[in-house]
Amino acid sequence: MPEKTSLLAETPESLAAFLAAGGQPAYRAAQILSWVWKKRAASWDAMTNLPKNLRALLADRFSLNPTDLLLEKKSADVTGKLLLRLHDGALVETVLIRAPRDDAPAAGDRLTLCVSTQVGCAMGCKFCASGLDGLRRDLDASEILAQVHHAARLVENDTPPALRDDRLPFDNLVVMGMGEPLANYDATLAALRVLNAPWGPAFGARRVTLSTSGLAPQILRLADDSLPVRLAVSLHAATDDVRSQIMPVNKAYPLAKLLPAIKTFASKKGRMVTLEYILIENLNDSTRQAAALAEIARDLHAHVNLIPYNEVDGLAWKRPPPEIQNAFLDTLLDARVSATLRREKGADINAACGQLRLKTERPPPPAA
Ligand code: SAH
Ligand code: SF4
Repeated sequence: MPEKTSLLAETPESLAAFLAAGGQPAYRAAQILSWVWKKRAASWDAMTNLPKNLRALLADRFSLNPTDLLLEKKSADVTGKLLLRLHDGALVETVLIRAPRDDAPAAGDRLTLCVSTQVGCAMGCKFCASGLDGLRRDLDASEILAQVHHAARLVENDTPPALRDDRLPFDNLVVMGMGEPLANYDATLAALRVLNAPWGPAFGARRVTLSTSGLAPQILRLADDSLPVRLAVSLHAATDDVRSQIMPVNKAYPLAKLLPAIKTFASKKGRMVTLEYILIENLNDSTRQAAALAEIARDLHAHVNLIPYNEVDGLAWKRPPPEIQNAFLDTLLDARVSATLRREKGADINAACGQLRLKTERPPPPAA
């Protein structure tokens, strides 16, 4: 039996032909999409203002969510992780990060959703669990949106009804899970357009941050896209010799190509770009790297987000001790660079990129 199409990536335009063929008025498209995105209906029967014959037509042609929620892990601190199974059995992860608001603690926690765009990753960064097995496949737009839909419903299940509304229950969305979003450009942007659409969740594009390992041509493409998403770039080293040791993408797009692309993005969008920099012991944590990074960040007017490396089973990279992390931060701050040192959240549930998938898909080693 052919797979049903997921309703999640549909638009008023794409539903028009389906409705016309079923003898249904065009205004039903807005009602259907409102059930999907504003009320986040869990079943066709819940869509009470649609006639029964239309609900039957919809059920025949579409699936509501193309993924199964396999596992939800809540950490003791602030992070939760969802593991979803796709129709072909592949697994994908989505992370929810709860953090106090520094600016307004009384307003409750800030909730950030982190979505994946691929199963695995082809970029082969040496420190990253997501890329260890290479790329299995791209996610399609509905599979990216399915993560948002599942996560929204989970958060809402924990929210008293009086506090729920039409809006998605997240403050920010980061495209930083498994995969390289700019290597799956069309599906990623199609999903982000649905999220941003007024007939959909109307989630502001400025609350969306897309993170890339540095595909310079696609950064330039994104700079010309009408959707004003924020950009984060995984720099992780401030010189080509060090960056090429850990990120094969640096051979195709070395700093001389990457940095001008970031600059173009920042000037076209009028937005500050974030440079992500994982601190790895004895690799990129020297004062020399910090000074070179300060120069790059100042030239780009970029913010630097330092992230202590989250150690991965089977990889030898280590997180530097706190004194080294702080010294690195101080070098940046002394050079008047905007920089923060992020203590990563949710270490107890292996919240870093890709680790849950690896643990679930790989059988435990046989007992000795
Ligand atoms: N592929 C994109 C987005 C997904 S990775 C990218 O590379 O930017 C999201 C972030 O997690 C990236 O900055 C990535 O370098 C970082 N990351 C990967 N493995 C990590 C680990 N073990 N510890 C800390 N950060 C990690
Ligand atoms: Fe892919 Fe990003 Fe991991 Fe690199 S860091 S392997 S680009 S997911």
